[in-house]
Amino acid sequence: MRIVDVRTHVLEAELSEPFAWSFDSTNKRGSCLVEIEVEDGTIGWGECFGPSRLNAAVVAAFRKHLIGADAMATDQIWQTLYSRFRDQGQKGLVVTAISGVDIALWDIKGKLLGRPVHQLMGGPLRTKVQAYATGTYRRGSGDPMDYVVEEVRGYTEDGFNAVKLKIGFDVEADAALIRAVRSAIGPKRALMLDANHGYDALEAIELGRLVADQNIGWFEEPVVPEDLGSYREVRQGQPIPVAGGECEFTRWGFLNVLTTRSIDILQPDTCAAGGLSECKKIADMAAAFGVRYVPHVWGTGIGLSAALQLLAVLPTTALRHTPREPLLEFDRSEHPFRQAVLSQPIEHNGGWVDIPTGPGLGIEVDRDAIERFTVA
Ligand code: CA
Repeated sequence: MRIVDVRTHVLEAELSEPFAWSFDSTNKRGSCLVEIEVEDGTIGWGECFGPSRLNAAVVAAFRKHLIGADAMATDQIWQTLYSRFRDQGQKGLVVTAISGVDIALWDIKGKLLGRPVHQLMGGPLRTKVQAYATGTYRRGSGDPMDYVVEEVRGYTEDGFNAVKLKIGFDVEADAALIRAVRSAIGPKRALMLDANHGYDALEAIELGRLVADQNIGWFEEPVVPEDLGSYREVRQGQPIPVAGGECEFTRWGFLNVLTTRSIDILQPDTCAAGGLSECKKIADMAAAFGVRYVPHVWGTGIGLSAALQLLAVLPTTALRHTPREPLLEFDRSEHPFRQAVLSQPIEHNGGWVDIPTGPGLGIEVDRDAIERFTVA
């Protein structure tokens, strides 16, 4: 089935209040959606993680390699795009743009065959997944010791049994906030930390040792992603498992992470690391290395549905009667079109999310919403 058109949609929306993480802040949300049409009129949707207008420009540069290609040949198309742009594109925007294209092609493949993506990838290994709440960004005013603690209490009231706390601002203040949040959510719920690479290795080790008694699930992006030596120092210098990978790309990027034993829990983003095709390969590599895989998830319901299709086929790293299951990152921060782009929002129920079972990604896209949030 030949590809006849490739379109991108750049969506943006202002937020009611800006939010900040360790090294930056924003007052808007943006996304680049990829729409691919094949000759019988079937349409597939994908999403690229990262700067929306730049992603759209890269997808436009892919166009001549896509028009007329067989949409079912997902690996063939992946290799064509990667090899044509390899010399300047082994990481970053080229791979995030390939990711959006690849997800849209899997959506088409599933729709043409009448099957959800996870069946075509050999699953499902699970039909629902436990979600953890991502939020706790810093606001323009107020004391995080008050509003962050209040926010995580809200997540537990919503039914989440796992939450992730943003740190990476100041070791002492972060440690105090971690203790306050642990106290608020009680000893049993899962609590993870995300520094958004705001520390150097010595600070990260100091923080990890300070809160070692707080039953922390993982310590995400303690240091900058390209410095795997510092990652290994943090792994060795403090007891909390180290997570990372939302800024890493393709099988080759993760091969380096795995062979150097730099990260305990891999977090590739399906909309960034190379799409569904590549992330399945990375997941199988991680399993071969005995390393856990918990996808990074950000963006709209389209990216979320792709992550759910992948989550359905992630290998269990130790097969047993009660296997350890991967978690779904469920962003709770303000996003005016996260769910609006879907005709039926993907919601959690008591902290669990069902894997969509319809053809392709298993979602229906709301075109009116896409037009409403599209910028010129
Ligand atoms: Ca993160």
